[in-house]
Amino acid sequence: MDNNKSCKSKLHRPKLPPWIRVKVSCGEGRKEVAGILKDLELHTVCSSAQCPNLNECWHRGTATFMILGDQCTRNCKFCAVNHQATPTPPDPEEPEHVAEAAARMKLKYVVITSVTRDDLPDGGAGQFAAVIKAVHARLPEAGIEVLTPDFNADPEALRTVLEAGPTVFNHNVETVRRLAGDIRSKATYDRSLRFLRMAYDMTGGKIPVKSGLMVGLGETDEEVKETLLDLRKSGVTILTIGQYLPPSKKHWPLARYVEPEKFEEWAEFARNAGFEFVASAPMVRSSYNAGELIHT
Ligand code: SF4
Repeated sequence: MDNNKSCKSKLHRPKLPPWIRVKVSCGEGRKEVAGILKDLELHTVCSSAQCPNLNECWHRGTATFMILGDQCTRNCKFCAVNHQATPTPPDPEEPEHVAEAAARMKLKYVVITSVTRDDLPDGGAGQFAAVIKAVHARLPEAGIEVLTPDFNADPEALRTVLEAGPTVFNHNVETVRRLAGDIRSKATYDRSLRFLRMAYDMTGGKIPVKSGLMVGLGETDEEVKETLLDLRKSGVTILTIGQYLPPSKKHWPLARYVEPEKFEEWAEFARNAGFEFVASAPMVRSSYNAGELIHT
């Protein structure tokens, strides 16, 4: 079988500009990660969200675990995650399975995210905490980044996650204020800012707060800058900006491909605004090179 054919990305993308290249790599690393995930019945956001960096990351032995199932109770217009079926109850074995997978993959930095679980009283915060604790116990040296939903800005849910001791707390604002209502489902721009501020205040900045947005959704350059300033004011010190690529024709349409120079301009603007770590480039995704980002 032609490996390259079998690994072709299914991304829907109107003609790509020359600076966007999806790297195809179907080597042993990718197969090994796929085998571990299958064995332990785990999901990753890499495949559920059709991430264009999947081949590259899996080949390197990194993956972002998506806990709490693969059915989201929300339906954001840019997102490829499923939302048709009723989500299943949290799996009590999931924390150990994630820890086992992270150990088998010899990860030094583990990224954990989830679908939004508005059906659960704590939004799934308890499961996040259990996974963090299981990974800490199994891999005490590993960094752990959590990328959480907004938990409807419930302070108790947030506290549960932070008290489990992640290395970095991440929640994405996703887009600029003007577009948030049209594109995000139930989440609001201001609630996300409030949630990020809460996360910063709860630990006094001891756990760095991270956020990110996509561009190409219809925002203006000025609105991107306003969003960066809003994030800084909310205590965020780690930032990601990447190009939106519609997962299918049914998703929110692409408004523009942003040139690499513009991403660099925003990165400089962000650093001047006080962000400590910035990843801003077309192929940057929220958890792409997450460990490397805070160690550079
Ligand atoms: S909340 Fe929105 S972005 Fe997050 S997984 Fe659900 S549909 Fe996707």
